[in-house]
Amino acid sequence: MNKSENLYQQAQKHIPGGVNSPVRAFKGVGGTPIFFKSANGPYLYDEDDKQYIDYVGSWGPMILGHNHEAVIEAVQQQLKNGLSFGAPTALEIQMADKVCQMVPSMDQVRMVNSGTEATMSAIRLARGYTGRDKIVKFEGCYHGHADSLLVKAGSGALTLGVPTSPGVPADLANHTITLSFNDLDEVETVFKEIGEQIACIIVEPVAGNMNCIPPVPGFLEGLRRVCDQHGSVLIFDEVMTGFRVAKGGAQAFYNVTPDLTALGKIIGGGMPVGAFGGKQAIMDHLAPTGPVYQAGTLSGNPVAMAAGLATLQQLEQLGFYEKLTTTTSKLTAGLTELANSHGIDFTTQQVGGMFGLFFTTDKEITSYQQAASCNLEQFKAFFHAMLEQGVYLAPSAFEAGFVSITHTNAVIEKTLAAASVAFSKL
Ligand code: PMP
Repeated sequence: MNKSENLYQQAQKHIPGGVNSPVRAFKGVGGTPIFFKSANGPYLYDEDDKQYIDYVGSWGPMILGHNHEAVIEAVQQQLKNGLSFGAPTALEIQMADKVCQMVPSMDQVRMVNSGTEATMSAIRLARGYTGRDKIVKFEGCYHGHADSLLVKAGSGALTLGVPTSPGVPADLANHTITLSFNDLDEVETVFKEIGEQIACIIVEPVAGNMNCIPPVPGFLEGLRRVCDQHGSVLIFDEVMTGFRVAKGGAQAFYNVTPDLTALGKIIGGGMPVGAFGGKQAIMDHLAPTGPVYQAGTLSGNPVAMAAGLATLQQLEQLGFYEKLTTTTSKLTAGLTELANSHGIDFTTQQVGGMFGLFFTTDKEITSYQQAASCNLEQFKAFFHAMLEQGVYLAPSAFEAGFVSITHTNAVIEKTLAAASVAFSKL
């Protein structure tokens, strides 16, 4: 038994399922989760000292690679000054100024502690601002685990939402309408019927929780138009895409401006941070200025702000996103070429530094149904063959992959060599 297997057994005793977040349990791919003890640059090291090239990057935050000098130093400096004050700090102003400068649709931003808090609070604010209860989301998009968002579609566009988890009241799920990602006609039909009841649309502008599915041309623009016509708030959940697909997020990449934006992951540089913000007229409704309540003991935590700020500063270096995108393209193009040469039905999708791998005959994937009908058995076999060779992919066929700026050409070449072996085994 290796150390991870041993630790996984121990973990089951006092940790539900042995993990603190379900996807870590390897349920989607089978086998035992790897327990890591350190990381550096593009590499993770497990408890048995095996090295892995990391394409999870803590599910997105580690865009600079692990242990980036400037980030570690900023955290160490702040540690000497204290861990938490529960009172305002100058660092929070620097963070807010930086975020609003990098994401121009945001006039103001409130810091929170996770992506879940960010989307949950943005929805409460949209409801408080509009005085409406219903929200629209899309099948296959994930926005964290707040009650209103753990809801799937009923049998038709206008039927009642159904909770995806026990513990979510049906009365609450009723207010969530789940539509098909990339299907603007469906959105327009629903808004024609009940637009005046809809507080907001929340969308991942590039879906990253059903593999990696970019918006089809006109989809995001259409959502903007529909929201404007009906006085609803457009929320971009950029927890994953923010600072990942471009410096200003997917809204900069696609040039569509939301009313509110939820952020997480990269904004904390690896510390637990989320944020939401947007137009002044809407943010004015948030406490303490306005009546919509939202709060947090550790929100704007100085150590987390130091890590996040140091990370954001690095992203402003000239050519950062060009380099990240080129590296990611080299990986996806290389994988596709290898799969073809091994006769495997396979395709990839990519936006900036995020990518998806699909075992399918389809050339382009635009819907949840297509993503869901990919060959899961092939993905599992590929995942384990890569893992064995020291390449750590997301342990689920429905998660996007992430590249960091420390993934050099040599690292990509090493990954492709492993992939050639993995494809040959399928
Ligand atoms: N929104 C999106 C788009 C996400 O990808 C995630 C997490 N993967 C969340 C929200 C929730 O963030 P957290 O896990 O930090 O609560």
